[in-house]
Amino acid sequence: YLIDDPKYSFLKELGLQEKNVGVFNGKWQANGQIIKSFSPANGKIIAEVQAASAEDYESCAAAAQEAWHTWAELPAPTRGEVVRQIGDALREKLQPLGQLVSLEMGKILPEAIGEVVEYIHVCDLALGLSRTLPGTIFPSERPGHVLIEKWNPLGAVGIITAFNFPVAVFGWNSAIAMVCGDVSVWKPSDTTPLIAVAVTKIVEGVLEKNNIPGAIAALCVGGKDIGEKIVKDDRMKLVSFTGSTAVGQQVGVEVQRRFGRHLLELGGNNAIIVNEDANLDLLLNAALFACAGTAGQRCTTTRRLFIHKKVYSQVVGRLSKAFAGVVSRIGDPLLSETLIGPLHTPAAVEAYKKTVAEAVKQGGKIEFGGKVMDREGYFVEPTIVTGLPHDSPLVKTECFAPIVYCIEIPDLDTGIKYNNEVEQGLSSSLFTENLGDVFKWIGPHGSDCGIVNVNIPTNGAEVGGAFGGEKATGGGRECGSDSWKNYMRRSTVTINYSGTIKLAQNIKFGD
Ligand code: NAD
Repeated sequence: YLIDDPKYSFLKELGLQEKNVGVFNGKWQANGQIIKSFSPANGKIIAEVQAASAEDYESCAAAAQEAWHTWAELPAPTRGEVVRQIGDALREKLQPLGQLVSLEMGKILPEAIGEVVEYIHVCDLALGLSRTLPGTIFPSERPGHVLIEKWNPLGAVGIITAFNFPVAVFGWNSAIAMVCGDVSVWKPSDTTPLIAVAVTKIVEGVLEKNNIPGAIAALCVGGKDIGEKIVKDDRMKLVSFTGSTAVGQQVGVEVQRRFGRHLLELGGNNAIIVNEDANLDLLLNAALFACAGTAGQRCTTTRRLFIHKKVYSQVVGRLSKAFAGVVSRIGDPLLSETLIGPLHTPAAVEAYKKTVAEAVKQGGKIEFGGKVMDREGYFVEPTIVTGLPHDSPLVKTECFAPIVYCIEIPDLDTGIKYNNEVEQGLSSSLFTENLGDVFKWIGPHGSDCGIVNVNIPTNGAEVGGAFGGEKATGGGRECGSDSWKNYMRRSTVTINYSGTIKLAQNIKFGD
């Protein structure tokens, strides 16, 4: 096991062992199956985690619900102070936690650390929110009456997360849910269980110091079985699900069936439009990171490039050269010279191979890449495909690997039409120097995505704004802006202090 190798001493710094317990309900205890965690960089086992059984899930949900009564009674600023301390505890463990993300998920260290920083940033945001959570007073039409909008916590929130952002997505949900007064049961991806255990240990340490029941941040490592329990559980007032569109659709329907709330953050099929007047140096810099960075495993990775005919050949040529320039820097994500790590699993490599073969079969040309790398681990070449129609089913499907389709466009309107023609609606970006085109792009006839950028990549969001997408991306919004509303319920309260009954609309009923 890699955990015994002194090279990976950061694992022990995080309190991990060869065999770990993957269930936390205030106490660490698990009775489910043993999950082996693999490093995608070499296919070797890092360590083991014992997952949750059905009874373990039950104990987490019950303990979380019980602990909610204590947590919800604390003033929001007190909850904010606890979240602030979690941010500080994460700052202390920034390096080892980042290293673990790199080792278990496979993204390069600066991006892995960036992900932990995102959790820290959202703790900062949540701290401010804890002192500014709004509640409005409206003027009443009746004398001696007051109309108040009062926000209360929901209760327990089920958080189901994807493998590719194994820290940040939990952080976005958890920090905001906590200041809102909610408790959570987290089911992480079963291919990143060590990260979930390490993060929960950090949170546990802060809760313990503050004498708060650990069950307010319960952890239930497991697969689809545990996910389905959360989805069907009436006690989970909100199910926040991040993952593929196919699974998210089932989750959304099931949660709706019991009139629960859902927050869906699903797949993307993100495009960059290159206008004829685009600053190409800027574009190429951004496109390299957006298409090939994180080995194409961000929900916001650029998968389609719509390039104006006047600059098409130049952009494809220069992008191919840029891809060629990074191939020698594909490798161990923990090494400082590495720019691109591996795919996460052998199944992802298979999906990559299948998509490349299908692209060729359909008449596409591989301008660059297209091959699985001959080395240990799950490494593939970043790939550029040309010659496929903009509306071919392949181009309209999200393949979670570094493959980008380049398509020529005659003008911006066509680019916008192509951008919007896919079922997903997560992220999009336009490269232009033309102010009028910027406003067209962000206006009613522009991009239909949740994220609409100008002169930056499609990926790499900040926590201040709301994050999420439209259409088959699920419509959810997380993190900044007014996303906190997802985690609270609203009551409209009318209080009469006039001493007489007056009906609204001045209705007279009886004498
Ligand atoms: P996935 O859908 O395979 O799994 C996501 C989570 O759902 C995992 O924890 C998994 O165990 C769980 N799950 C699986 N079946 C379930 C079921 N029937 N009921 C409940 N839970 C179930 O996704 P993945 O491969 O881990 O992640 C990649 C996908 O996630 C991509 O499509 C990517 O675009 C998307 N993603 C979206 C965002 C976003 O914010 N929009 C962010 C990250 C990833």
